Amino acid sequence: MKIAFIGLGNMGGPMAANLVKAGHQVIGADPVAPMPEGVIRAASPREAVAGAEAAITMLPNGAILRAVADEIIPAMSPGAVFLDCSTVDVDSARAVASAAEAAGLMAMDAPVSGGIGGATAGTLTFMAGGTEEAFARVKPLFDIMGQKAVLCGPSGNGQAAKICNNMILGVTMIATCEAFALADKLGLDRQKMFDVVSTSSGYSWVMNAYCPAPGVGPKSPADNGYKPGFASELMLKDLDLSQMAAEAVDADTPMGQLATDLYRRFVHDEGGRGTDFSAMLPRFATRGRA
Ligand code: NAD
Repeated sequence: MKIAFIGLGNMGGPMAANLVKAGHQVIGADPVAPMPEGVIRAASPREAVAGAEAAITMLPNGAILRAVADEIIPAMSPGAVFLDCSTVDVDSARAVASAAEAAGLMAMDAPVSGGIGGATAGTLTFMAGGTEEAFARVKPLFDIMGQKAVLCGPSGNGQAAKICNNMILGVTMIATCEAFALADKLGLDRQKMFDVVSTSSGYSWVMNAYCPAPGVGPKSPADNGYKPGFASELMLKDLDLSQMAAEAVDADTPMGQLATDLYRRFVHDEGGRGTDFSAMLPRFATRGRA
């Protein structure tokens, strides 16, 4: 397949590299990122999509996605697929999909989880929104870049699934970290806390698979000086998207809002930028009640 790949940063670069390794012809467009081996550089996104059967975007946010979509949709071949894998707001995902469909293209939003490690290893999970037909068309590409793809419903539902999942993740991380900090102050050993909670009703993916306490549980960023992993500012981005979506549909999400406020303070005022999102534990551990 001839595939245009637009946005070859931390995630897009290794995803494009895996498509090349699987034998596809990949034309890349990115104003700064280097092209992985085998990816042919195009001068612009518009040039990249000429004659391509699929265009994949992996961009920082909804505004950039909308601008790139305006540029490439008129240049894409009829019947080609516009596959956006960026994490963006639901409204942008739906607007771009309807513009693409109005131009005779197939469209699918498919944000990912799995991070840079998953992108490199080809083990991402794709949360897809769009038609069954579009899903069937891009499934072989998902199989190369990832290990799982779930069709979540019509356009925008991939983004909806992603932000709901990450809202749970952010809230759970904070709850787990504040509980560890309380346990410290009560004189409860962190290992004992893990032994109990990981097999009791407080268990979660955060506690059991990504424990924020160094030296406790399976290896996680906490064991590597809280180097990301999943950076706090990316968690903040996803939490902000969850609150934007909640606002748009009048959903009451008090815990999601509080988690967003805490990560915003952590990233902007408390030195959390560039640390893994589990670095909330040392933050809580050094604080008192006020
Ligand atoms: P990144 O900043 O490393 O990459 C984005 C790339 O887009 C950059 O190389 C940039 O130059 C390029 N770009 C910007 N404007 C462009 C344009 N007009 N035309 C072409 N290219 C353009 O970001 P990333 O970490 O690769 O993340 C990409 C997306 O994936 C984001 O939406 C992010 O939220 C999501 N995501 C990231 C992770 C992660 O762990 N990094 C995990 C899951 C999802």
